[in-house]
Amino acid sequence: MNGTALIVGSSVAGIRTAQSLRTEGWLGRIVVIGDEPHLPYDRPPLSKQMLTDRTEISPTPLLTKHEATSDNIELLLGTPAVGLDTTAKRVALADHREVPYDHLVIATGASARPSPWGQMPGVHVLRGLDDCLGLRKALHGDALSGSGHVVVIGAGFIGSEVAAAARALGLRVSVVAPSATPLVQNLGPEVGMELTKLHQRHSVETHFGSAVSSLTSSADGIHVLLDNGTELSATTVVVGIGATPNVEWLKDSGLTLGDGVMCDEQGRASGGSDISAVGDVACWTRSHAPVARRGEHWTRAVEQANLVGRRLCGVSIENMDRQVDYVWSDLYDWKIQIVGQPRHGCRSEIVGDFDGAHTRAAVLYSDEEQRLVGSFIVNWPRATLLLRKATEQRSNVRAARALIDARVPRNSGSTI
Ligand SMILES: Cc1cc2nc3c(=O)[nH]c(=O)nc-3n(C[C@H](O)[C@H](O)[C@H](O)COP(=O)(O)OP(=O)(O)OC[C@H]3O[C@@H](n4cnc5c(N)ncnc54)[C@H](O)[C@@H]3O)c2cc1C
Repeated sequence: MNGTALIVGSSVAGIRTAQSLRTEGWLGRIVVIGDEPHLPYDRPPLSKQMLTDRTEISPTPLLTKHEATSDNIELLLGTPAVGLDTTAKRVALADHREVPYDHLVIATGASARPSPWGQMPGVHVLRGLDDCLGLRKALHGDALSGSGHVVVIGAGFIGSEVAAAARALGLRVSVVAPSATPLVQNLGPEVGMELTKLHQRHSVETHFGSAVSSLTSSADGIHVLLDNGTELSATTVVVGIGATPNVEWLKDSGLTLGDGVMCDEQGRASGGSDISAVGDVACWTRSHAPVARRGEHWTRAVEQANLVGRRLCGVSIENMDRQVDYVWSDLYDWKIQIVGQPRHGCRSEIVGDFDGAHTRAAVLYSDEEQRLVGSFIVNWPRATLLLRKATEQRSNVRAARALIDARVPRNSGSTI
């Protein structure tokens, strides 16, 4: 609980680790290194209200200067870490400084996959504040011109949220994705179809089952050529094709790198001592999951940060690694919440109703032993609470369904 805790990465996983360390009694120095020059801010609003707000916008802070001072958290911002010497216990920075540590926490997150079709003006990715400001300017410019056409490549959560934001600004929007429906690998074809219908209800032109062949730029915009021969002419293109963990700076460190920094169930990095990893960069083994997987969502980053903070301070972490996943997204008039691991299910059933003006529905995913493994819920926070608990308890899916059936007045009864 003494000595220097050095955290590399100044976003939610890094900042929450620093705060957890202080709260749980870390007495020594806490230093946070971040490559972005901005004070720590939160990412979820970047693809939502920060794109649509027409008035002056400012990022949602994760830690203010005042909070950093009062918690005695030292911030070294605007300078990337470029190397790690695990023997000397030092992190090298791009500005040639070296920072020693007693315990290192790696929280360098992930970067948006760049456009494989080349970079050109008008083509955007969305990961950080600077990306958001650039994209916002382009979308608002398109909206002012009255003739903007936004082509979003990728129909995951970020691509879909950008499409919804662009529609909220009144823009013509097309979404292109190679899969037949959005998020089919995570949520199955039926939910994928509901998401397709949701986009279409909001007048988005969907080109699903089509891959992009090329992007070319000309005086009248960006030409997006699809593999089925369709050509779309865009004013703005957003590439939302996933993210890769920021581990480049660790490649000679001796740490075990796979899809991120490989870690045990409590976030200890493999291949080094006194090193932990948290958040989107970290690939933790999980007691209830068949394979180690990176999270790439906010709640998991916070839970890992809290766990590591407590472990380093010698506070009990019993059952903390058993929490079920929780992800949210806002798409048009849908508040989406996902609990557990729908992808581990082999069967799914719908409770409630996806159609109609006021969607309120849950899809329950169960395994071969009929245990609830995950749920996809729309506009129904009460069901989310119940299903989160039922997933934690690995309840029988019928029992879970009975629990929420009792609270839904109209039951579609459909099985998908
Ligand atoms: C636009 C957007 C919207 C999202 N919306 C949602 C949502 O609605 N719901 C949800 O559950 N999740 C959402 N997420 C996911 C969630 O925000 C991430 O899971 C979370 O930000 C991960 O936090 P992190 O600290 O691990 O990594 P990051 O947020 O990626 O932060 C890592 C930080 O480390 C810095 N860094 C990288 N390399 C270095 C280096 N070598 N040296 C120093 N610093 C470095 C990065 O610049 C960054 O500041 C969203 C993500 C994005 C991008």
